[in-house]
Amino acid sequence: MNFKQITVAGSGVLGSQIAFQTAYKGFDVTVYDITEDALDEARNRFNKLKEHYKEDFQTSDDILSQTEHRITLETDLATAAKNADLVIEAIPEVVEIKQEFYQKLGKLAPDHTIFATNTSTLLPSQFAEATGRPEKFIALHFANEIWRNNTAEIMKHEATDDQVFNDLVSFAEAIGMVALPLHKEQPGYILNSLLVPLLDAAQMLFAKGVADHETIDKTWMIATGAPKGPFAILDVVGINTAYNIVKGKAEKSGDPAIQQLADYLKTEYIDQNKLGTSTGEGFYQY
Ligand code: NAD
Repeated sequence: MNFKQITVAGSGVLGSQIAFQTAYKGFDVTVYDITEDALDEARNRFNKLKEHYKEDFQTSDDILSQTEHRITLETDLATAAKNADLVIEAIPEVVEIKQEFYQKLGKLAPDHTIFATNTSTLLPSQFAEATGRPEKFIALHFANEIWRNNTAEIMKHEATDDQVFNDLVSFAEAIGMVALPLHKEQPGYILNSLLVPLLDAAQMLFAKGVADHETIDKTWMIATGAPKGPFAILDVVGINTAYNIVKGKAEKSGDPAIQQLADYLKTEYIDQNKLGTSTGEGFYQY
């Protein structure tokens, strides 16, 4: 693994965490997002992350300021990609947005650049062709709050080069993650193969009016000893991502109950800026 310059595309919930952790571990990082407003938001996210690193690791102000200095913010994709050894993509979980992004990036990045997607629910093979370099394309999936929930699932698709797979395992370790290699493409990796059915089931119980979200969380926590219930987890995931997933399912299935749930998330949460822990309120207040 000979990566020096890392570009993170998308500076939202996960992109900002990936960028910050990567810079914290000594890599030069360029963060790409589509608007200056999004990058302003990223600056706020970095400030919040600094507080977490101070609290969780007693990181000094000096180290945190060195970390920030290794991060460059950019709205021009050509500039963001031109020196990248690795581009980690953390843009919205919407097929068309990712497809278009990879088509552009494939043309702009140097030939040696490896692309890794942080997609939660899609498969790398869906975008392999759009990248124009399927052998250098792979999935690198983080869990939210990566500085403490430090798993990195590394998943090849059929055409991924073995060296790229090994390099990504080394890179994940170099940025302080526990590297979890997946030898086959699996929708949802290991984590979401377990987690998504739980969150779906919880949301359907709620959408059908079976029980309120607090009762559903309490049931899960007390009965299994889990520290958080599904709705508290959804607040950490972010309601935007939850909404995109539910909306995609509603369109695919045509199920009116799922559509109703998508509409409810939009009007009651997204439109009111209740996006979860990131905005201080979602299903719960923080
Ligand atoms: P988010 O909505 O918080 O952030 C997405 C960011 O992408 C925003 O800053 C947005 O401005 C930017 N963006 C939109 N279109 C873009 C484009 N064309 N090019 C560059 N940037 C663009 O989303 P998120 O929760 O950080 O999720 C991002 C990805 O990470 C998704 O694929 C999601 O499945 C995955 N993921 C999320 C979580 C989670 O817990 N939130 C965990 C693991 C993986």
